[in-house]
Amino acid sequence: MLPIVQNGDKVLRKISKEVPISSITKPKIQKIIANMSTALDSQFDGVAIAAPQIGVSLRIFVVSGRIFDEDFISGKESNKINSHKKNHSKSMVYINPVLIKISKDKKLMTEGCLSVRPLYGKVRRATRAVIEAYDEHGNKFTKDATGLLAHIFQHETDHLDGILFIDKAKDLQEIFAS
Ligand code: ZN
Repeated sequence: MLPIVQNGDKVLRKISKEVPISSITKPKIQKIIANMSTALDSQFDGVAIAAPQIGVSLRIFVVSGRIFDEDFISGKESNKINSHKKNHSKSMVYINPVLIKISKDKKLMTEGCLSVRPLYGKVRRATRAVIEAYDEHGNKFTKDATGLLAHIFQHETDHLDGILFIDKAKDLQEIFAS
């Protein structure tokens, strides 16, 4: 299994580099994307992962399709595990993502991070975010998100700038999965 880099490792604090567009479809970048997806799928509660979290300082993040699965959203721990096994929705890849618009409307939401186990805390973020990025085929796209996905966009783009949610969170506490 691919280890997920934990807080304290310098790679999490670096500003990640842009991926040259012409290299997106090359084996090197495709392999990184595949490794990120594998690492993400290995975590039953993972919703997204940024490249620095597998030790690669490049501007890429992957969002698990799991977040769109009804039984995952319902939030029960047992359901989360089930939805992981089914894994029906496709993951989404964001390369060189830029938040081109975020709402003034903000909301506190509890978040955690695969690299900051076992801490959870509340972070105030925009309720709506529009992102521009390239997909794994090198095609540029724009995605307008609200709620959880908007929150994820902000958490993940922070990763690419060396920022962790604990820098912004309130009421940090340790929660151990039983
Ligand atoms: Zn994170």
